Amino acid sequence: MSILESIGRTPLVPLHRIGHGLPVPVLAKCEHLNPGGSVKDRLAIAIVDDAEARGVLAPGATLIEATAGNTGMGLALIAAIRGYALVCVLPEKMSVDKRVALAALGARVVVAPNAPPDSPDNFQNVARRMAREHGWFLTDQFCNPANVRVHEMTTGPEILEQCGGRIGAFVAGAGTGGTITGVGRFLRKHAPAARVVLADPVGSGLARWVADGVIGPDSAYQVEGIGTSRPPEILDRSVIDAAESVSDDESFAMTRRLWTEEGLFVGGSAGTAVVAAVRVAARGGSAPVVTVLPDSWDRYLSRPWIRGPHRDPEPPC
Ligand code: PMP
Repeated sequence: MSILESIGRTPLVPLHRIGHGLPVPVLAKCEHLNPGGSVKDRLAIAIVDDAEARGVLAPGATLIEATAGNTGMGLALIAAIRGYALVCVLPEKMSVDKRVALAALGARVVVAPNAPPDSPDNFQNVARRMAREHGWFLTDQFCNPANVRVHEMTTGPEILEQCGGRIGAFVAGAGTGGTITGVGRFLRKHAPAARVVLADPVGSGLARWVADGVIGPDSAYQVEGIGTSRPPEILDRSVIDAAESVSDDESFAMTRRLWTEEGLFVGGSAGTAVVAAVRVAARGGSAPVVTVLPDSWDRYLSRPWIRGPHRDPEPPC
């Protein structure tokens, strides 16, 4: 028995207050309750298990990933238990808290300059180059098919079982696209009437891409972990029926409601997903709308939005 066995099989809870009065219930999959605090634990264990099964990971090997957050935490958990070393390459713009957290969990942290995706200095390209030069294993969450597969094999079946086979819609954001693609593929086969809806931050180009195949204009937004100006390789548009765009203010207001009205201590992208899920539920139907709460609030304590819309200069105490 190890803590790794507690990855997955997370609760699916009804949002009693937030969903009150809607024509169908809104159910939330509590991925923030995974041992590393996010949905990314599923991907981390899947990628490492897959590499071990293929014989490409020698005992004591070094894992390297371009990540500023949840995937790094998940990999740190696996590395600790399985005896691997871990290198995380972060872009300079990411908060110092994340560098401190990953280093505290035993990772070697490499800071890459802020650079666009086609620059050799971009953090993903730095990770790829270091993996090649040192013979380290690049976990490669944006391209690794194990990312989609784990959601198709675990998250999707868990959700369908937990809602007794009745699901009207599934709503999720996309960072790598692993969650929505994997769960979407599972539902296409086993609950084909369920609609699959992308929750996208205003400022991301993905909502427009879902609607008409053309990536929309991008602009800055504060919600972390979802949305992009370039569709990730593993995000499969053919399993997504529609998209909902959600502003930062709507996302953070809903995140606060999840804390104070539902006791769900989650991060900002959960707010985005729940705003979109409530919109879908408000349109009616005959079965529940299911959404995902991807991570825990503790990794955002230094972010200004955590203090509320009035932005107190100091936390009241
Ligand atoms: N929310 C947060 C906070 C995340 O870190 C991620 C992963 N980047 C997601 C949502 C989206 O998950 P996925 O990569 O499976 O699309």
